[in-house]
Amino acid sequence: MQSADIIFKNAIILTMDGNFHQYEQGALAVIGADILAVGLESEITSSYSAPEVIDCDGKVLMPGLVNAHTHVPMTLLRGLADDLRLDVWLMGYMMPVEREYVSPDFVQLGTKIACAEMIRSGTTTFADMYYFEEDVAKATAAAGLRAVCSQTVMKFPTPDAKFYEESLAMSREFIQRWKDHPLIVPSVAPHAPYTCTAEILRATAELAIEFDVPLHTHLSETAIEVENMRNEQGMPVIPYVKKQDLFEAKVLAAHCVHIDEGEIRTLQHGKVGVAHNPSSNLKLSSGIAPVKRMLELGLNVGIGTDGPASNNDLDMFEEIRLASFAQKVASGDPTALPARTALAMGTIMGAKALHIGEFTGSLEPGKHADLILVDLSPVHNTPHFRRDPNAVYAQIVYASHASDVSDVMVNGRFLMRNRRLLTVNEPELLGQSQEYAHKIDSFLMERENSVLSKLIAIGGTSQEESFEIQSKVRIASVEPILHALTNPEIEIIRKRHYREYDVYFFFASVEQGLLRYREDSFIEDDAVSKVRSRLTLIGPTREDEFPQEVLLSRSRYLAPANQSVRFYREYFKPHLEKEIEKDRIRFLVKYHDIEFFINLDTISKPNLGCFLEVKSRTWSRQDAELKSKLVVDLIHLLGADPTETTSEDYIGMVR
Ligand SMILES: [Zn+2]
Repeated sequence: MQSADIIFKNAIILTMDGNFHQYEQGALAVIGADILAVGLESEITSSYSAPEVIDCDGKVLMPGLVNAHTHVPMTLLRGLADDLRLDVWLMGYMMPVEREYVSPDFVQLGTKIACAEMIRSGTTTFADMYYFEEDVAKATAAAGLRAVCSQTVMKFPTPDAKFYEESLAMSREFIQRWKDHPLIVPSVAPHAPYTCTAEILRATAELAIEFDVPLHTHLSETAIEVENMRNEQGMPVIPYVKKQDLFEAKVLAAHCVHIDEGEIRTLQHGKVGVAHNPSSNLKLSSGIAPVKRMLELGLNVGIGTDGPASNNDLDMFEEIRLASFAQKVASGDPTALPARTALAMGTIMGAKALHIGEFTGSLEPGKHADLILVDLSPVHNTPHFRRDPNAVYAQIVYASHASDVSDVMVNGRFLMRNRRLLTVNEPELLGQSQEYAHKIDSFLMERENSVLSKLIAIGGTSQEESFEIQSKVRIASVEPILHALTNPEIEIIRKRHYREYDVYFFFASVEQGLLRYREDSFIEDDAVSKVRSRLTLIGPTREDEFPQEVLLSRSRYLAPANQSVRFYREYFKPHLEKEIEKDRIRFLVKYHDIEFFINLDTISKPNLGCFLEVKSRTWSRQDAELKSKLVVDLIHLLGADPTETTSEDYIGMVR
């Protein structure tokens, strides 16, 4: 008799090994952190003895599930913002809240909550990507779960680093410190090609190669991502990252939704593990990944929940089922992705995708004892047919609930027995997480009430505040003014020609001001030479007024508009919106030694005719008074009638 520490007996064992061995009346022996033997109960109990023998009462004993891609601390952001497009969700809500709240404390608490949820739902291993990843690792190790923990690196400032060099240095130190940990595989995560530079992709790949650790990233998640990459780099995402030598590292790539046959072959060639995230891809309407084809071409495709803010849970049972259903409907073939294959993706293939398949993911002697017991006795899973050996896989994939998991062991240590968590204090976590929810709620409620705070929240805003003295008058046509500009009293410093497309967002409360999205097409020799987009928050109506309706106005925060009009519309949710298109000839002139801008506008949409606008920046009351007089003089000098003022500006007219 060989001695073991624990023997599980009277179980239906699904080994998920290379031949899908299963034992209807099986037993498994554990010694230390590892599986010593697995087989028929009669053989195991006659060859091994242990101080603890557990009668599994006919439950399924199988490898713990492998969540191949997630962002576990985001449990604290679960339900924060839903039913939004990916860019609005990410840039408008997740990133601003993360910049404000994500700290080592946030990350540890979020991870503990995730660990409790994962243990309860039978996950023993997960691949994570977040900030302060060392804190994810600490909380995970304390809860006793196994994980590939990937420190995020990206070109934008993150909650844990102002510059990418800092994240890269953090990744290096983290990997060095945790490299030989029994539960944690440290790793580096260039977030995605669209949030990283080529330099970051290369540097992270080199780091992963240097320490022989996995590299975790998001690839080809949405059609827009691929389209932008084609426009910017002349090729889709997969060839682009290959060109940066990313696939020299052991890559775990999440999503891979929008890839073609050639790209699948490139991934296969690069031994890339893929994490398929059906809930997230469906919820964010990203599409359905070509999983069936990836499997046919021999890729290791695991299944992940993605972050709990885009799922919204960490339930791998649901995810595995959805993976199977999504392939069936996408291919129009109900034989696609059968239950046994789906469960393999959720266990051993997932472990291989994480590049840790040699020590977890299946029940085989020598591998770590990462296993779960699933109760098949509840009414939603009866009766049991045994004619088809695959029937038990169908029971697990199509009918089992996460709550049917009764026991969980990782690395030979029990984390849950009879549904009682042994390493995490659940009630304590619930209270603490609700405190965060209160804080984040008030932060967002305050922000949602102010267009200015919302503008600042998406970043890139320069806090430029400018006062302008301005007058706008209606004119019959542009030509006479152009002629009048030759007057020797006016010195022309610069002349520019633009075609301007403006979208004005109005808000229910006038105090909010209005937001202008402007696309300037700069015209040179009758052709568009460059286009720039800007966002301007225009202050609430007039600040002050001088004789002849010369206005003092205030424009507040300027930002380069690097998102689409659609993004801003969905993010700011304006009450009303107006489009204006105009041809503008813009002069910078000197008059009485003071600089003025003179704009000659022909408004084509809506058809409002021509306007002359004279304006100048101002800094003091005295200066404003002087300039307001000069503005009126200039309008006279140009042969226009200053009394033909438009009381506000175009906005007033089109509103
Ligand atoms: Zn993700």
